[in-house]
Amino acid sequence: MNVRVRFAPSPTGALHIGSVRTALFNWLYARHTGGAFVLRIEDTDVARNTEQSLNTILDGLKWLGLDWDEGPYFQSKRAEIYRQRAQQLRDVGHAYERDGALRFRMTREPVVINDLIAGPVTRALGDREVSDPDFVIVRSDGTPVFHFVNVVDDLEMKITHVIRGEDHLSNTAKHIALFRAFGVESPAYAHIPMILNVDGSKMSKSDPDPAKARLASLTAYVEDGYLPEAVRNYLCLLGWSPKDDRQILPIAEVIQKFDLPQILRHNAKFDVTKLEWMNGQYINALTSDELDWRAATFGIKCADAPYRRAVLNLLKGKISLLKQLPERCGYFFTEDFLIDPAAVAKSPVDPVMLTKLTDRYATLPVWDAATLESNLKALAGELGVKTGQLIHPCRLAVSGQTVGPSLYHMLEVLGRDRVLSRLRKFKP
Ligand code: GLU
Repeated sequence: MNVRVRFAPSPTGALHIGSVRTALFNWLYARHTGGAFVLRIEDTDVARNTEQSLNTILDGLKWLGLDWDEGPYFQSKRAEIYRQRAQQLRDVGHAYERDGALRFRMTREPVVINDLIAGPVTRALGDREVSDPDFVIVRSDGTPVFHFVNVVDDLEMKITHVIRGEDHLSNTAKHIALFRAFGVESPAYAHIPMILNVDGSKMSKSDPDPAKARLASLTAYVEDGYLPEAVRNYLCLLGWSPKDDRQILPIAEVIQKFDLPQILRHNAKFDVTKLEWMNGQYINALTSDELDWRAATFGIKCADAPYRRAVLNLLKGKISLLKQLPERCGYFFTEDFLIDPAAVAKSPVDPVMLTKLTDRYATLPVWDAATLESNLKALAGELGVKTGQLIHPCRLAVSGQTVGPSLYHMLEVLGRDRVLSRLRKFKP
């Protein structure tokens, strides 16, 4: 079978992280089967659609590397197709007019959905629907409704598998009945369980807690300096698993192994702490070139490219989000950095010690981490003090902070001139 799947978002706001996972699972299934991934924009709700939201969707998919093979198709441009299909249902007696609207004659039999994830689900008509299960497919103003256009497009676009959020399971009986009315079998359905916050609440863009609401949109992860590869890797594991404990998985391997029956039936919890850890692993694995251009988008700019790259390499294993970069490495690029007053107050600096270290460092024939370390240790021995009494003031003088990368490597990267000038300038 030639697999054809689709992602069918409505452009009515930020791109929800759950929608992103739906897109990802469709993409993975298309790539796994060698099928086609179709992008369809469900923009029939004219009042709520925005151009900005459309761009957010397109940019989000591109950012994650979820390339589509067809589309984007826009429902707003397919009115004539819907008109013809509505006429077809009228002609075969499956649709009739009442109060100016076109209504679908819904089956009175229970509908069985053989969902590839949820299993067989029988949808009997509810109490309220028993007396009148029919529903509107074209409103009195001529605009077609979601259920109708969604099914017509899946039919026209020859979609073989509908992979979407579990919130649409309740619509599926209607959709299957519509397909049958057109005289065809429906596509296979795979409804993916929801993504929840760690506290079990629904991940919602309108959560009253602004921090939680923010994390429901993809934009937050772009802004915070997550790498698309890390977000994609994490989302792959939200509801799907390669059946071992590995967390970092190359996408080629996921594509090779991904299949629908393995998707877990229970809701997945979105653990942003774990994602952040994973992001740190991905940052650490970046090449110098990659880290360099990504850091530039987070404001790391310095004309001296070899120096800039050396700084970034030093910090690579120390950050979990790219947005941490300016704060963590600002002092490498300016002499006008802040000396943390709390750090000075906590462990006062002895200026005599600092001068002795400065003098020793000024005489070094080579400037590398090993030499800097052995000389600091030797000096501490000669002075009869703990190494910390030299390390702490030195770090403070050159970076203004008490934490950071390994001191000796930091000194090596900063270079002799910067280090000596900062040590001499430092007035605790
Ligand atoms: N436009 C619908 C949504 O955004 C698509 C539902 C579907 O995938 O069938 O949820």
